[in-house]
Amino acid sequence: MVFNNFFNIAFFVFGACVGSFLNVVALRLPQKKSFTSGRSHCPHCHKTLNWYELIPVLSFIIQGGKCRTCKKQFSWQYPAVEIATGIIFFLCWRNLSDSAVVLTLSLVLAALLIIIFLIDLRKFLILDAVTLPAGAVALLFSIAMGRSWLEILTGGLVGAGFFLIQFVLSRGKWIGGGDIRLGAVMGLALGWQGLLIALFIAYICGSIIGIFLLATKKMTRKDQLPFGTFLSAATAVMMIYGASITQWFTQQLFL
Ligand SMILES: [Zn+2]
Repeated sequence: MVFNNFFNIAFFVFGACVGSFLNVVALRLPQKKSFTSGRSHCPHCHKTLNWYELIPVLSFIIQGGKCRTCKKQFSWQYPAVEIATGIIFFLCWRNLSDSAVVLTLSLVLAALLIIIFLIDLRKFLILDAVTLPAGAVALLFSIAMGRSWLEILTGGLVGAGFFLIQFVLSRGKWIGGGDIRLGAVMGLALGWQGLLIALFIAYICGSIIGIFLLATKKMTRKDQLPFGTFLSAATAVMMIYGASITQWFTQQLFL
């Protein structure tokens, strides 16, 4: 019990620290800046932040979300990403810890999906620098999960093909090359069954949020939704809860 509680907290804290790093990666990667060199600094006054200003979540709360030097507000998105990453790491630990290899790969894949989520949300970009390594990790994750080669490869092909068809039909207007590669990542990570359910979840959530944003006039018909954001979130959900969600779906279809 005590042992279990320790790990629950440890995985959340570890996730929050990784989330803090993912914030930096998602910010600097589209600008082609290095994210391993150069200390974090205030986006307003550019003062380099001290170690105690960089503690995930806690620094934000203690400083009231403000820079200690210039008193300007930091975005709420930073602690939100740290908390979300903490929760996702905790859920991976709770659901995928039967094998240390599966758990490790799920954490790496989750981190890459969070980067895809953030960059598409802010910049409408799905970068090869993230999807290509994600594809390799997705393949290893599926192998470690014991999926058959047929299931994995069919998943990758159906995922890429689904977006490739839309790419060709729209002559590249609805869909970019990044979506095709993200589709392949989803299929490789989840197998073809999991892929179909993840696409279903992403489209349902995308439609609901799209209609909500149109209705509240936060978005016009000309705006696009960052679809990679929905796809990566649905992939993470299926990576963690795939077994029970797939079971639920097959019961609905066959009973
Ligand atoms: Zn400042």
